[in-house]
Amino acid sequence: MAGTQPRPLVAGNWKMNGTTAHLREPRLLAAMLRDVKLRCEVLVCPPATLARRVKAVMKGSRIRIGGQDCHTAVSGAHTGDISAEMLKDAGCTAAIVGHSERRTNHGETDATVRAKAAAAHRAGLTAIVCIGETLEERKSGKTLAVVSKQLEGSLPEGTTPANTVIAYEPVWAIGTGLTPTTAEVAEVHTHIRKELGKAVGENAAAMRILYGGSVKPSNAQELMSADNVNGALVGGASLKAADFIGIIKAYA
Ligand code: PEP
Repeated sequence: MAGTQPRPLVAGNWKMNGTTAHLREPRLLAAMLRDVKLRCEVLVCPPATLARRVKAVMKGSRIRIGGQDCHTAVSGAHTGDISAEMLKDAGCTAAIVGHSERRTNHGETDATVRAKAAAAHRAGLTAIVCIGETLEERKSGKTLAVVSKQLEGSLPEGTTPANTVIAYEPVWAIGTGLTPTTAEVAEVHTHIRKELGKAVGENAAAMRILYGGSVKPSNAQELMSADNVNGALVGGASLKAADFIGIIKAYA
């Protein structure tokens, strides 16, 4: 696939972490990245309460900001929710949808994720659509079938490489320190690339497929070298500028 490889993306998901006291980390990250030649894009997804502030402290840098979830509606009686349009208004360029913590803690189904991805597209945001198997599913040999089903159910009409990024995140690797082997990552990513052909035809080659789950500076280079990996979705290690930059530098 030489020549068609999409530009990688390294995205940080802060989850429910961060108050104004944490703003020094993105400020530091922007300063550390200023003179680094990068072959990837960088995105930080803080809690929505900090979106504008994080964007402000990184002003002038190439780092973009994103949301961690969005509602399907533009506005209305949905207490506590945030719409894709609100994220856009706060300066976001992307929204994560279907993270396994949302699927598990909030009962989100593939249909929900699909509607959220469509909402992100409607607002002009890139939807980062998360998929991945549980440990039980992996142990029973169902990984490829599970990700195929999630992909089929989670991608809305109008999905393109320009408005959508896939994040393969084995549930058992998130926040555990465990990771699949490079060969296992390559197997799933190559399968996802093939399956994407059903949704986006020959554009599948241009779609970014991120790996997520316990990515750290010490394993980033190796995980990112696996076939069909076009970047990373990083949780815990995105909270500290020094750790996150260690991952980003896999693409320096
Ligand atoms: C995540 O939450 O998307 C994630 C990959 O978390 P961690 O890097 O902490 O495993």
